[in-house]
Amino acid sequence: MANKIPRVPVREQDPKVRATNFDEVCYGYNKEEALLEASRCLNCKNPRCMTACPVGLQIPRFIAELAQGNIAGAAAVIAEDSSLPAVCGRVCPQETQCEGSCVLGVKGEPVAIGKLERFVADYPRMGDATGSASGPVRDSEYPAIPLEGVQGVKGSVRTNKRVAIVGSGPAGLACASDLAKWGYDVTIFEALHKAGGVLEYGIPEFRLPKDKVLKHEIEAVRALGVKIETNVIIGRTVTIDSLMDQEGFKAVFIGTGAGLPKFMGIPGENYNGVFSANEFLTRNNLMKAWREDYLTPIHAGKKVCVVGGGNVAMDAARTALRLGAEVHIVYRRTEAELPARKEEVHHAIEEGIIFDMLTNPVEVIGDERGWVKALKCVKMELGEPDESGRRSPVPVEGSEFEIPTETVIMALGTSPNPLISKTTKGLEVNRRGCLVATEEGATTRPGVFAGGDAVTGAATVILAMGAGRTAAKAIDAYLKQN
Ligand SMILES: Cc1cc2nc3c(=O)[nH]c(=O)nc-3n(C[C@H](O)[C@H](O)[C@H](O)COP(=O)(O)OP(=O)(O)OC[C@H]3O[C@@H](n4cnc5c(N)ncnc54)[C@H](O)[C@@H]3O)c2cc1C
Ligand code: SF4
Repeated sequence: MANKIPRVPVREQDPKVRATNFDEVCYGYNKEEALLEASRCLNCKNPRCMTACPVGLQIPRFIAELAQGNIAGAAAVIAEDSSLPAVCGRVCPQETQCEGSCVLGVKGEPVAIGKLERFVADYPRMGDATGSASGPVRDSEYPAIPLEGVQGVKGSVRTNKRVAIVGSGPAGLACASDLAKWGYDVTIFEALHKAGGVLEYGIPEFRLPKDKVLKHEIEAVRALGVKIETNVIIGRTVTIDSLMDQEGFKAVFIGTGAGLPKFMGIPGENYNGVFSANEFLTRNNLMKAWREDYLTPIHAGKKVCVVGGGNVAMDAARTALRLGAEVHIVYRRTEAELPARKEEVHHAIEEGIIFDMLTNPVEVIGDERGWVKALKCVKMELGEPDESGRRSPVPVEGSEFEIPTETVIMALGTSPNPLISKTTKGLEVNRRGCLVATEEGATTRPGVFAGGDAVTGAATVILAMGAGRTAAKAIDAYLKQN
């Protein structure tokens, strides 16, 4: 029986070695491993894995193609629903979505759906360096995906209706891809000099390589006919009102994410050496501070404290470690409450990150030149559960102590930037500063749609993509009537 085969393990860089470089941690499957893992799938009639995927990826269909060795066929099935498979195969929390619902997981190990998706997406670019047993793949072995065969694609039939997408993160890219496949004239406006949103500026190179992986997926979106204009800040360079009233855009999708960092509001947060995780990661990823050939370095120092326990905290900590620092995660609850993915915590521990649990900062202490020299903390203990069901941490009286450190990175969450809502007529936001939108993505302004972190607050890549796709359908329906 196929499900008697144990889940095929995936190879990773040795923790001691990878702690000193920015190369990708996980090597992924080679062809032999991928085909073996694909053979474990039961091709369920009512696939629970698929129901749990926010973009509705046809998981059993693509795995069945792969199991038969038809990798291009598997890629074509994935392309029907996802424009970012190499990204999702790497960063999606599969353990709580597709793999978390896989029937094989009830009594054993679920199918490694994410690793299979990643293999299919990477295959055309694979060489020996990526661990492929098959060696470099020739173009002739891997025909281009026939778009005419993709559900909903109308080939070269184009309407003259222009749609503007604000923001080039996963929500914007997914919305743009579907609309372009359906023949709309789509332009993405991106504030930064590179497209990709958090995929480009937030998630580190060692989890999601930019040139080797992300660049190709963004190029594939462009290849659908989507135009991407970078260095355009909507709300400053041009407004949504002028895009619609003067530049002929018939609909707009806002996928501007949640890039505004939160701070603790404790004394000393203005000292040099205090960063938001967003700034620290942007300087490393987008500005390539970790590369010696770039003139935009960063000072991490010998010791770094990262405050927070989510995925962003793990990314900031692991980045600081690779820059040569001793890194402490300062978290006010215990390991059991850490909101980060288990895999990320495991990787961080393996690499040598030190976890200071039940510890909460109360002040950043600086030296006479205005630079951070210590983080004053208080010990915590767990009290009664709060609204989230997690036990609330309460300070232990008289337990203050100092951790000497050169750098403090605050990874406490983010919210949407208010620029768009402040400069666009008729757009409502809720108490958390998130855009108000229906489940279909319609905002309070006719013709303007929104999705992703800008609506939900900080969430995940696949939820943002799902929201982008849902809004694309609503935009299509709106434009057919207007
Ligand atoms: C460090 C980090 C690690 C993460 N790791 C994971 C992970 O492993 N797995 C996972 O699923 N999720 C992860 N997430 C969350 C995930 O990346 C986000 O939920 C997702 O990127 C949201 O997509 P989005 O398209 O809504 O917004 P974003 O990705 O934030 O993209 C928004 C884009 O809009 C642009 N923009 C903003 N304002 C304007 C404007 N006025 N004009 C023009 N452009 C504008 C921004 O520059 C940005 O490029 C992580 C987040 C961070 C910060
Ligand atoms: S639930 Fe698991 S076994 Fe069933 S189709 Fe999905 S991946 Fe295959």
